[in-house]
Amino acid sequence: MDEQTARREIVRVGKLMYERSYVVSSDGNISVRLDDGRVVATPTQTGKGRMTEDGLAVTDLEGKPLNDRRASSELAMHLLIYREREDVRAVCHAHPPNGSAFAVAGLAIDRPILSEVILTLGCVPLAEYGTPSTQELTDAMRPLVKHHNALLMANHGAVAYGADLWQAWDRLETLEHTAKIAILSRVLGGSRNLSPDAIEKLINVREASGYLGEGARCQACGYLHETNLACPTGDRTAVRSQSNGAGRISLSREELVELLSQAARLNE
Ligand SMILES: [Zn+2]
Repeated sequence: MDEQTARREIVRVGKLMYERSYVVSSDGNISVRLDDGRVVATPTQTGKGRMTEDGLAVTDLEGKPLNDRRASSELAMHLLIYREREDVRAVCHAHPPNGSAFAVAGLAIDRPILSEVILTLGCVPLAEYGTPSTQELTDAMRPLVKHHNALLMANHGAVAYGADLWQAWDRLETLEHTAKIAILSRVLGGSRNLSPDAIEKLINVREASGYLGEGARCQACGYLHETNLACPTGDRTAVRSQSNGAGRISLSREELVELLSQAARLNE
């Protein structure tokens, strides 16, 4: 994407973010990675609803300023995502109330309750708390970034990313909408999960149609537990330990069998 288009879209998404109450005051930040590798980002301490196209910061991929505007102190989280995901060109971070309520309650958005969400977003794990703008936060996020297109950050907020800024924004909207529906369904007595068979079909459809690749499969999130699908990447242990914010332990079928047979041997 060229710089002028990126600047225009960041200002438009900033307005949407503010008008939808995903942020207040100077919360949140947005960035776009340009074709030449530079990053255009929202400036520090500026309300997202009143940014101007010429008021945005430009940095390199290490965060080094390339113009006279200072980027948000939370830019490190964006740069981590760009480094971990070659396919990602834009990042949106905000504190949307329903999604952030999950993050405050120590819950991931990982119940298979909506078919469209399984198709287009996947589950949203919870990264452990880390002080904003420090390496604590990026360390907590790192193992999750590869498998997911949006994350919750404990006691903080949400971040979503995509191949362009509108995809990143759409994913943030889907996260917030899903969190809202999940909360409302609890008010009505609780949600009914989709069956493992239905989940498997949806994951096959999303991969065949190119909505999401196999990298979005995640053993930690709850969607795959009962299905015959597995995450193809090897770093499941790290992902699992990071996403059990609610004290829930998730094991693959083989790991469960191994654990039970170990326990049986101890009792012999
Ligand atoms: Zn924040």
